[in-house]
Amino acid sequence: MPIGRSFTLDLMVTPEQRQRMYEHEQYLIRERKIFMADFWNSCPVSNGCIAGGRPGGYFYIDWNGNISPCVFYPYAVDNIIKIYKEGGHINTVLTSPYFEAIRKWQQEYSYNKPADQVGNQIVPCPIRDHHLTAYEIITKHQAQPIDSEAAAALKDKGYHQGLAAYGNKAAELTEDIWEKEYIGPEKKQAAEEMTKDRLKQATQAELR
Ligand code: SF4
Repeated sequence: MPIGRSFTLDLMVTPEQRQRMYEHEQYLIRERKIFMADFWNSCPVSNGCIAGGRPGGYFYIDWNGNISPCVFYPYAVDNIIKIYKEGGHINTVLTSPYFEAIRKWQQEYSYNKPADQVGNQIVPCPIRDHHLTAYEIITKHQAQPIDSEAAAALKDKGYHQGLAAYGNKAAELTEDIWEKEYIGPEKKQAAEEMTKDRLKQATQAELR
């Protein structure tokens, strides 16, 4: 991920490399029966992004107490030391509008959606694959960078544009895989169930 010291998009796995990794990983899992998962392509396993205190997910607290949605999402609204001093607790963080906005996006994109409507979870990361969405949430909630590198990234237009282009390309390259391997069979099943329901209703109406 292009965060931290000397962050650069040049060292990222490219969308094309990511697609090849996905295909090879699937071969290793399905054909060679090797149990494995990787950071770039295994998000369908976790039902998408787990940041922002999502159920079954997590958030990140750095050693200064700053609380960010994920270790790779280095912008915080709350600080756990300050929250405890003011009599708050961990739920104060979970119910913050910043974290709620992230969880709202997760739900709109994929989390807990009907199986035939789940967004492409091969590319579910707000900060990496949907960067402008993450940027909008960060600015709207005035989340602060947790370190100087995150501050520099926030001001860097080329960084935002580069990540937005990266996300678009990664989505384009994995769209067919998502459609064929994941969502397509679910859509087919949903359509078959709908047809069965309609036939049942029609038969019941005729019998009345
Ligand atoms: S923000 Fe990205 S890296 Fe962090 S949990 Fe979500 S998908 Fe994973």
